[in-house]
Amino acid sequence: MAIDETELRARMRELVTSGELLMDAAARARRYVAEADMRPVAPTAGAVAALERFREPLPESVGDAGAILALLDEVGSPGTVAQTGARFFGLVNGGVVPTAHAARVLADAWDQNAAVGAVSPTNAVIEETCQAWLRDLFGLPEQTVAGFVSGTSLAIVCGLAAARWRLFERIGYDVNAGGLGGAPPLRLVTSRHAHSTVVKGAALLGFGTDNIEWADVDDQGRLDPTTLPVLDDRTIVILQAGNVNSGSFDPIRECVERSHTAGAWVHIDGAFGLWAATCAALQHLTDGHEAADSWSVDGHKTLNTPYDCGIALCADPEAMVAALQNSAPYIVASEHRDGMLYTPEMSRRTRAVDLWATLRYLGREGVDRMVLSLHERARQFAEELVDAGFDVVNDVVFNQVMIRVGDQAATDRFAAAVQASGEAWVGGSAWFGAPVIRISVCSWMTSPEDVSRAVQAFAQARTG
Ligand SMILES: *Cc1c(COP(=O)(O)O)cnc(C)c1O
Repeated sequence: MAIDETELRARMRELVTSGELLMDAAARARRYVAEADMRPVAPTAGAVAALERFREPLPESVGDAGAILALLDEVGSPGTVAQTGARFFGLVNGGVVPTAHAARVLADAWDQNAAVGAVSPTNAVIEETCQAWLRDLFGLPEQTVAGFVSGTSLAIVCGLAAARWRLFERIGYDVNAGGLGGAPPLRLVTSRHAHSTVVKGAALLGFGTDNIEWADVDDQGRLDPTTLPVLDDRTIVILQAGNVNSGSFDPIRECVERSHTAGAWVHIDGAFGLWAATCAALQHLTDGHEAADSWSVDGHKTLNTPYDCGIALCADPEAMVAALQNSAPYIVASEHRDGMLYTPEMSRRTRAVDLWATLRYLGREGVDRMVLSLHERARQFAEELVDAGFDVVNDVVFNQVMIRVGDQAATDRFAAAVQASGEAWVGGSAWFGAPVIRISVCSWMTSPEDVSRAVQAFAQARTG
């Protein structure tokens, strides 16, 4: 069992120089990707039971690298839900554009720290390029900066932190130094259908969830502007581009105008929906979004980058950097972009590479077509579901469809039956308090045939 440090280094160096381990990983990844669409969407009960093999004591000694990879693939791969396939309709997920996956594999080999440009000029330039492309695609003001974070949860925190810093700065208060304790209160206004991560952001940043002022929504879950409270220059208004259940959009232009007239800051949570702005046929949905102050959006949903790819965008660079500030004597500031100025994290991987590879591959036209196809497949879903006698609950304006299949027990049974069929994966939700099945069309891979096949599985699940 005893191994000295020279021997350990020699063994690992051998793994690096031979390259066999990486080739094996690539072969296994290739098979997984190619077969993701042929296997049952949910893992079999046997595959889930086999995951118990991972629960072993920490090894006492150095292992066999090839065997470890084989274990991960042979036990781990079958236990996954095929989220990259064509018939996963849970959460709001998105598949993976193959170029992005391949680019990520290469960039993982670099293992760059994206914190400072001095240690990764490549990352710095790729982040700057993505920032410019995102401004262009979303039509945002030219001073807009982008922070590359893990997801929209954190991007919302970044936007609200920038807002908090700026609103306090305007009244001469330095919140970084003084904290919230002695500060005059700020107000948070959002709709009753704001995403749960907006509420979490309010809690994390010390606004207090009890202090949120709620505007009402219409029957599609859109903020009703007539129910907005009186706004002022101590207020942060959080709008939604893409309701996580119905896919609906708040009336952005009107709300932004009213907010700005009052001196309020506007953040738009557009985790999956902001991409509507990049599609000619759908851009009316986000009308007026470019006038907001900050935005949160995911690459890993509608755009189909791999996880974890969230983006915080802010038209007030000074506020964003001040809110997320960090400095220490050993940090070498350079002429290169220092990624950590735009994110809460210091060290992190070069996730902008995944985004770059996706946008570089699809281009403006490819993004437009992919976003449109998600919408068209959702429309097809709704039509075929109605034809099959299902009760579609929402207007399908984007990529989300909801159906009512009965009470909570019936809804749970239905979701379980669809999942057990292996044909598709859907989950339940609540819509104005009533149980629904929600379908999110997010993967580039979903074809018209896949939609029809899923609807058949739904019909089967209903009759049992
Ligand atoms: C998914 C989602 C979030 C949270 O994003 P993560 O990337 O999961 O952190 C926030 N808001 C909306 C509307 C979402 O759909």
